[in-house]
This record gives sequence, C-alpha cells and structure tokens, in this order.
Amino acid sequence: VVNEANLNFLSRSSNESYARIATAGFFTQLDPTVDEISDIKTAVSEAVTNCIVHAYRDTLGKIYLTVRILEDRTAYIKIRDRGCGIPDVKQAMEPMFTTAAQEERAGLGFAVMQAFMDKVTVRSNPGKGTTVTMVK
Ligand code: ATP
Ligand code: MG
Repeated sequence: VVNEANLNFLSRSSNESYARIATAGFFTQLDPTVDEISDIKTAVSEAVTNCIVHAYRDTLGKIYLTVRILEDRTAYIKIRDRGCGIPDVKQAMEPMFTTAAQEERAGLGFAVMQAFMDKVTVRSNPGKGTTVTMVK
C-alpha cells in the first residue's frame, strides 16, 4: 500500500455526496483522467447509496470507507456497513434484481459498479453487514 485514508460517516443521504467527493479528492494524486474519476465517483455513489437505502433501511448506521493506492498505482476502494446483510450475493448482483421495486429501484447498482470498475467483490453476512471492494 502506497497511501491510505479512512472515513466513517452516518447513513444520512446527504453523506453520499461527501463520500463521492472525498474519494475523488483522494485519488487526484494519481492524476486520473476526467473519465476515470467520473467512473470512480459513480461506483462509490452506488455502493454508498446501497448502504443507506438497503443495509440501514429503517435505521441509521455507520458506513466505513477505505481508499488506497496500491503499489501498481491502482485505486482500491472498500465500503463496509454493519447493516442487514445480503442473503444471496450472487442473485443480488444480477442486473435488474432488486428488493425495492416499489421504491422505483432498477436493480442496476452492482451492474454499474462492475461496468465502471475493473474488479468488484462483495462479501456479506446476513444480520452482520456487507463489504464491497472495488479496484480500478
Ligand atoms: P438501483 O441501485 O438500481 O437503485 P438496487 O439498489 O436495488 O437498485 P443494486 O444496487 O444492484 O440494485 O442492489 C441489488 C440488491 O442487493 C438490492 O435491491 C438489495 O436487496 C441488495 N443490497 C445491495 N447492497 C446492499 C447492502 N449494502 N446491504 C443490504 N442489501 C444490499
Ligand atoms: Mg443500488
């Protein structure tokens, strides 16, 4: 690891933009292109929004963000919550799968993260929480 920063914040929807902008600020040291930084912001936005609307659905909880620059100058992002967890991660990651169709969710968040980042990994324990790691 060449550099690392950690941020934790409450699952208020106003903190989605905070996480997105703080992440973009951290990775400016990699001199990313406008497209690269835009992809990273979009992926972080999707992951943090999932913590806010799904993990802590009827409650407020903490979201833990870790950003790292790895030896090969790739960007590493980890977003963790201690919320409800995902019973079937494989199913949840399928495009258009959503548990919130009534709230007009499209079920495309994970598909967007996978499209905009090089690697996306999801680990989850029902009742304990979810960790999403992404590399670009
Ligand atoms: P969209 O992102 O298009 O608004 P969505 O959030 O339902 O819709 P995804 O982001 O792909 O779609 O997530 C798919 C499903 O995985 C969600 O509907 C939810 O059931 C579950 N999920 C995703 N992230 C979490 C999380 N952090 N905690 C608990 N459940 C999650
Ligand atoms: Mg989503």
